[in-house]
Amino acid sequence: MREIRLAARPNGWPTAETFEIAEAPTPEPGPGQVLVRNLVMSVDPYMRGRMDDVKSYVPPFQLGAPLEGAAVGEVVASEAPEVPVGAYVVHGLGWREYAAVDAARARVVPAADNLTAYLGVLGMTGLTAYVGLLDIARFAEGETVFVSGAAGAVGSVAGQIARLRGAKRVIGSAGSADKVRHLVDELGFDAAFNYKDGPVRRQLREAAPDGIDVYFDNVGGDHLEAAIGSLRKYGRVALCGAIAAYNETSAPSAPRNLGLAIGKELTLRGFIVSNHNRRMPDFLAEVGPWVRDGRLKARETVVEGLENAPAAFIGLLRGENTGKMLVRLR
Ligand code: NDP
Repeated sequence: MREIRLAARPNGWPTAETFEIAEAPTPEPGPGQVLVRNLVMSVDPYMRGRMDDVKSYVPPFQLGAPLEGAAVGEVVASEAPEVPVGAYVVHGLGWREYAAVDAARARVVPAADNLTAYLGVLGMTGLTAYVGLLDIARFAEGETVFVSGAAGAVGSVAGQIARLRGAKRVIGSAGSADKVRHLVDELGFDAAFNYKDGPVRRQLREAAPDGIDVYFDNVGGDHLEAAIGSLRKYGRVALCGAIAAYNETSAPSAPRNLGLAIGKELTLRGFIVSNHNRRMPDFLAEVGPWVRDGRLKARETVVEGLENAPAAFIGLLRGENTGKMLVRLR
């Protein structure tokens, strides 16, 4: 079988040389394990942090070892009676064609046409949006919300949950005119702007002249600075990600206006979704029906073939995806 390994730690942007596609023996499932043939895998920005040899909330990837990430696949051999051959499972050992997975770490999902949803809108991605907006930023009906990275996987769901939960106004930022159109025309955002068109501060002020109550931050840097400037008294920020900094080699120069948080009595709170898994049932009960009846839309960008996964990852960091970035294995 083939797998993608970390060949070199990137300094700044990852390149093709960061990755190596290699042949490896197909693993044998041990007691309590299943052998999974991976069908689709998730491509996620947080993987960039794991490529650096630094201590974080997840251990770094090891040089020469296969990368890891969420995947969905079919069980083709089983040494665990509770997960039979033929079951479909979500697990954490993507970036390879076959994986021996502890049954206890595999979540069985119904065999359906929309298996990809378990990696995106109905999986960790959607839960991140739900927890960040409702529990961390404590969004309430009638409030104005700003979401950065709004055409991406998490951001697009966060903005739509705000709309469906009765936001007064939902504003999104994204990196192209097509994405801005997608946000307003297809996802129902009230306003959106391309952050490459001019200073975020000015564009946000134009889109939200009366200010914002909640900022869902996927980007950090200038976006966070602009949001701090536009937040009203007692505003809240969910610090979800800071993708503008992931490939930088020096410390970010923004936000420079954090002092405003004192007088406005703002709350800025970070979170890691895996510490909020207990909210999964509530999330699925509320958001599942919106996805099924089409009130919440989830675009996917699907790259074909394991060998194209490195390009998909670099493309994700460059903004080549709309919605969830996935790789379908052949
Ligand atoms: P996305 O689908 O949003 O993909 C990443 C997007 O980031 C790109 O499409 C690109 O869109 C945008 N981007 C890249 N560089 C920049 C930049 N310099 N400035 C502004 N936007 C940029 O990924 P996800 O939805 O999976 O993740 C979104 C964020 O949420 C990430 O920061 C991620 O790390 C974080 N996250 C955090 C979790 C948590 O538990 N806290 C869990 C999951 C994700 P564009 O064309 O608009 O530039």
